[in-house]
Amino acid sequence: MQTTGQQDTYIRAPIVVVLGHVDAGKTTLLDKIRGTAVAKREPGTMTQHIGASFLPWKALEEISGPLLSQIKVEIKIPGFLVIDTPGHEAFSNLRVRGGSIADIAILVVDVQRGLEQQTFEAIDILRSKRVPFIVAVNKIDKIPGWKSFPNKPFVESVKMQDEATVLKLEELLSYIIEQFNSLGFRADRYDRIKDFTRVLALVPVSALTGEGMPDLLLVLAGLSQRFLLKRLVARVAPARGVVLELKEEVGFGTTATVIVYDGVLKKGDLIVVGGIEKPITTRVRLLLMPKPLDEMRSPEDRFIEIDRISAAAGVKVIADGLEGSIPGAPLIVAASEDEISRILEEVQAEVQATRFQSDIA
Ligand code: GDP
Repeated sequence: MQTTGQQDTYIRAPIVVVLGHVDAGKTTLLDKIRGTAVAKREPGTMTQHIGASFLPWKALEEISGPLLSQIKVEIKIPGFLVIDTPGHEAFSNLRVRGGSIADIAILVVDVQRGLEQQTFEAIDILRSKRVPFIVAVNKIDKIPGWKSFPNKPFVESVKMQDEATVLKLEELLSYIIEQFNSLGFRADRYDRIKDFTRVLALVPVSALTGEGMPDLLLVLAGLSQRFLLKRLVARVAPARGVVLELKEEVGFGTTATVIVYDGVLKKGDLIVVGGIEKPITTRVRLLLMPKPLDEMRSPEDRFIEIDRISAAAGVKVIADGLEGSIPGAPLIVAASEDEISRILEEVQAEVQATRFQSDIA
């Protein structure tokens, strides 16, 4: 944990979401990221969270090594917390008043199909919540004549393609750039951009072969560092999170997948969670994380109990009364009983504000 100089804050991992049209390759891209996270797991680090995967900076360094030496920013983020479920619905459940707890998004576009119906919808949603995004222009391996170089940076692999193939890629990219222009965005191939605040970055990738993934993750890291650092300051304080999903688990009843975006969540914490009717005040009975695959002894042996977890994280919360909660509900820890009434009001106001927001979205 890298501190920010003050004792009680630190820079947390950005929360990343993946959006795009059906079949553009969102799931394949997430699988690739998850595979990388698992393959680069170091003892003592938990790369599989509940509802999300953590991609530690060290893993990024390894895959982006050759490119990393070219960017001159000191890396401060500990990695990325990538939400496992792609698409609009999961994204809308990450709501908080005034926006989203997602810090940045990857918009996946099929290079040969360009922007499609759900791509436009995703752009609208991201815009309305003011979530910055980069574009993964996916399936470059399907461009006629493309020679695949698995897991290589795009900027290297493009140099090894025939002229006609590169021309075809440029043609496809121009079309996508035009589509973005007509929506009011300036957009360009990422390696041609000088000012990332004004121009939307397009990163050609193949989620299937892993080509371009180093570039994609590095652009994501670079942008997070340059423009999101303030947002990423987390406190060593009672946690705040959002319910991503509710799930029945045998032996546990209704459990909540919670994305913690600030503070530290502990077993035994007094929590206030948004509910269908009214907020629920309860105590965290158990906090569960996925057991690494190689430590699983049986299909039922899926979780490990933990005592605490700090933002950013995805964790399963077991507590009485969670059946009255809803996806998208805020979860706030009360440091003491005295705080409950104030937090109840805050949670209620938050639920109303976000309900209003999703009504108009
Ligand atoms: P989603 O609906 O956006 O989650 O898309 P999927 O990840 O399920 O991908 C849809 C189809 O496209 C699947 O058959 C994938 O194998 C395929 N696909 C995804 N990414 C790539 C890619 O980079 N190259 C190729 N050739 N196929 C891909």
